[in-house]
Amino acid sequence: MATIFSRIIAGEIPSYKIAESDKFFAFLDINPMAKGHTLVVPKQETDYIFDLDDDLLAEMTVFAKKVAAAIKLTIPCNRVGMMVIGLEVPHAHIHLIPIIKEGDMSLANPRVKLSKEEFEEIAEKIRDKVE
Ligand code: 5GP
Repeated sequence: MATIFSRIIAGEIPSYKIAESDKFFAFLDINPMAKGHTLVVPKQETDYIFDLDDDLLAEMTVFAKKVAAAIKLTIPCNRVGMMVIGLEVPHAHIHLIPIIKEGDMSLANPRVKLSKEEFEEIAEKIRDKVE
C-alpha cells in the first residue's frame, strides 16, 4: 500500500506544496514545530533515509538546501534546522525547521496551530522564493 507521503505526492491527499522535481517533493508539515516547517521527501518510496542510494541521498540534500534557502528568506529566523526522525511515517523525509535558538528543534515543544489560510499564505510565500 502507498505511504501517506506517496498519496500526497500523487495529489490524492491535499498538501501545501512548496516545491517539486522529478525525484523530490516538498510540502508544509501539517503539525508544524514552527511556521514554515517543511518536509522534503523522495518520490521513491523508501522507509529509512540511509537506505537511499548515495546519489539520491546527496541530491535530496541539495534539493533540501534550495527549499531551506527559500524558507530562510520568508520566515524570520537565525537559520533553518535540518532533522531526520522517520518513526511516524515510513517514507524517508527531511524536516526543515526555521529556528531562532537550539531549543526550537525540541520535539517536546508544543506544535504551532495554523489555519488553512495561514498554511496557504506561508506556502505561497516560500514557494515563490524557491530557485
Ligand atoms: P517523523 O516520521 O519524522 O517522526 O514525523 C512525520 C512528520 O510528518 C510529522 O511531523 C507529522 O506532523 C507529519 N505528517 C504526518 N502525516 C502528515 C500528512 O498527512 N500531511 C502532512 N503535511 N504532514 C504529515
